[in-house]
Amino acid sequence: MSRTIALLGSTGSIGTMTLEVVASQPGEFRVASLAAGRNIDLLLQQIEQFRPEIVSVADEEGRTAVRERFGSKVEVLVGLEGLIAVATHPEVDIVVTAVVGSIGLIPTVKALEAGKHIALANKETLVAAGHLVMDLAKQKGCAILPVDSEHSAIYQCLHRERSVDVDRILLTASGGSFRDKTRDEMRVATVSGALNHPNWAMGAKITIDSATLMNKGLEVIEAHWLFNMPYDRIDVLVHPESIVHSLVEFVDGSVLAQLGSPDMRIPIQYALSYPDRMPGSYKRLNLLEVGKLHFRKPDFERFPLLRMCFDAGRAGGSMPTVLNAANEVANEYFRMNLIGFLDIEQTVAHVMDRHQLLTNPSLEEVLEADAWARQQACQVVRELELGQEQ
Ligand code: NDP
Ligand code: MG
Repeated sequence: MSRTIALLGSTGSIGTMTLEVVASQPGEFRVASLAAGRNIDLLLQQIEQFRPEIVSVADEEGRTAVRERFGSKVEVLVGLEGLIAVATHPEVDIVVTAVVGSIGLIPTVKALEAGKHIALANKETLVAAGHLVMDLAKQKGCAILPVDSEHSAIYQCLHRERSVDVDRILLTASGGSFRDKTRDEMRVATVSGALNHPNWAMGAKITIDSATLMNKGLEVIEAHWLFNMPYDRIDVLVHPESIVHSLVEFVDGSVLAQLGSPDMRIPIQYALSYPDRMPGSYKRLNLLEVGKLHFRKPDFERFPLLRMCFDAGRAGGSMPTVLNAANEVANEYFRMNLIGFLDIEQTVAHVMDRHQLLTNPSLEEVLEADAWARQQACQVVRELELGQEQ
């Protein structure tokens, strides 16, 4: 196969699993470029093992550390400029976008402009600017291959199907760390409690998003763009076992689902090998061991952020950009112990309320809306704090 890969976010949860997939398939993939943030120790090991030509780091300190170790053997760039250089490396076929947050947007756009296929983990990019990213991919003839397990499942179910035959998409949700918690319990929830996900080991931001069901809401918007599906034909099903990764219902009433052990290396490998499959030694699904599978309706009352995502998606334009940016800020404040768990939804709701919708924002307007929402979210958090003091 021999495909050349760029990896943005190499030191994260998806990034390290992507490199595990690459290492497990000798001769199939070459890593030409890697972008990390601040985890330089791990990046140095990755450079040693995968020998990329270009790497990117978050700051000058990181650049100095890489240069001290590898000299001129690897080109080291910094910040957004570095992310773009990694994403547009001339020999790269597929860019794996595994940074967290809307910082992934510009490098993804630049990669598409350079004609690269995208293996997309960074869902915030599609939420922030799905209309621009999907149009650009189409115009350039580039594939956007989903890494997110639910979207990979749907992609697999839709393989060789005609879009007119699809009736609806059913996205499954584990329900996150607080699946069975009451609102009162959530009000006093701790960061470590929210980080304790029952089925998946993931980065901190997405684990908190899973606990609020924001992650599922972001995935609804992601599915809307990836599969060109109206919001009233996307359903969410809580499925605590995380074995059925998602389903597609067709016009004849037939339903296809993709099942597997909850291991992100399976959808990562599928995105890298598409349209082929490669053998993998991941844990096989044993349905006899699993025994029973359960499904229930999501509770929009206990998890209002899921409803807000549907609302933002339906409003369209710049609203999903604003929803996402406000959530990124609130999620981080919660992780820093500066606000309570339920303040996340409060912050997002207030910022959305204050937003003047732009119906078809340009890239520049998306970036402005993102920056505006971040600043508003900080403002709302200050107001919430003042309210509590009184
Ligand atoms: P992690 O927090 O584990 O990793 C994030 C990665 O991005 C790290 O390599 C980090 O670098 C890097 N990074 C963060 N900020 C910057 C920046 N400003 N500049 C350059 N690099 C940066 O996240 P995950 O791997 O969990 O998630 C990545 C994306 O994949 C998210 O969009 C998430 O929603 C999505 N996803 C994740 C899943 C999972 O199982 N984890 C499942 C489905 C989707 P460093 O650590 O070196 O600072
Ligand atoms: Mg997912």
